[in-house]
Amino acid sequence: MKKHKLSLFLLPLFLLTLLFDLYPQTPPLDRKIDEIVRAITPDLVALRRDIHAHPELSLEEIRTAALVADRFKALGLKVRTGIGGTGVLAVLRGGKPGPVVGFRADMDALPITEETGLPFASTQRAVRDGREVGVMHACGHDVHTTVLLGVATVLSRLKGDIAGTVLFVAQPAEEGGQGARRMLEDGLFKDIKPSAMFAFHVDDAFPAGIIKYVPGYVTANSDGFSLTVFSEGCHGANPHLCVDPIVVGAQVLIALQVMISRQIDVHKDTVITVGSFHAGSASNIVAQRADLKATVRTYGDEQRQAVREKIERTIAGVCQAAGAQYDLDYAQGIPAAYNDPELTKQAKAVASRLLGQANVIQGEAGMVAEDFSYFGREAPAALLWLGAQREGSTATLHSPHFAADEGAIPVGIRVMCAILLDALKRKP
Ligand SMILES: [Zn+2]
Ligand SMILES: [Zn+2]
Repeated sequence: MKKHKLSLFLLPLFLLTLLFDLYPQTPPLDRKIDEIVRAITPDLVALRRDIHAHPELSLEEIRTAALVADRFKALGLKVRTGIGGTGVLAVLRGGKPGPVVGFRADMDALPITEETGLPFASTQRAVRDGREVGVMHACGHDVHTTVLLGVATVLSRLKGDIAGTVLFVAQPAEEGGQGARRMLEDGLFKDIKPSAMFAFHVDDAFPAGIIKYVPGYVTANSDGFSLTVFSEGCHGANPHLCVDPIVVGAQVLIALQVMISRQIDVHKDTVITVGSFHAGSASNIVAQRADLKATVRTYGDEQRQAVREKIERTIAGVCQAAGAQYDLDYAQGIPAAYNDPELTKQAKAVASRLLGQANVIQGEAGMVAEDFSYFGREAPAALLWLGAQREGSTATLHSPHFAADEGAIPVGIRVMCAILLDALKRKP
């Protein structure tokens, strides 16, 4: 009985010591950031809903860019607009000298009709390729833009504590991969260049509170080709009188898959998908042409070039064997995004400190493309995945049912503020 009384008395004391033990482990700046994030989150959630309800297609981000620029200006940042179209750059100079680091978010939406049923769902419509389409933030760029503004707000309030400069980049046209390149070609960094660049992309497979990192290649080179195989055309009953472009196209398609399996190192991921194959008009006519369109995904410049050469050789060989004339248009698109391993390790350590080690997960490179890769060619860069899956939802990015969990907004702001401050402590 006596013992029991004693433990009852000691328990609160024990808890108190525990608290005192833990509290000093949270650095004061982390605590300050948390307080500001808590205070500004309701406003940012409202802002995100506004952006979500007013999505704009690539290179048409007029309203979003204006909203972003206004917010940056209200924070007292130096702002440049109209970079590479609708891109915006804001510069935050800290109270002390130091290096320059950057954070980029994309602003554009997709030609998809929203079916989330959310009260702030988009009803916007636009014309794309001559037909009317719905417009929707189905890739979470509304959350990216909001987190960018949130980080700018927090760091503006901590300006005196900041040793260095932070660049905030609001990029147009990530979908289709033109925006980053256009901003850079338009002199985004002509006056001031970062020594490290960071970005988030929402993750549809993990909930808010989780960060996923991938050291090295995180997204793939996205290239492709259009192939047309020509023929004189002849009667379907006498196919020996002309080249059959459908058979040649089919042989090319199969030969490319065999080429991957026999000529590419199994450790060097390569995907070729012929996603479009059109030919012919009737069952008894040998068509005059077959049109194939393909996407080609690889990692690294060397593999990219090697696969291209093998594709060109395979197509030339198959067509020559059939005596077919052809036209090949090979296009290199967005390069693979490379996460600088050291920078990624540092970002991972910061995220682990804030969220706990179990909530920071190593992921694998994806075969999708992200034009953040262009920033990685200017400076060491890291693109991190920000968990944003809504509870009970299995909708993927680019689905009409996808909507990011707003819980990802404060998490993204806290983590990115700390990552940028950590990066500023390092020599460029
Ligand atoms: Zn997307
Ligand atoms: Zn995206």
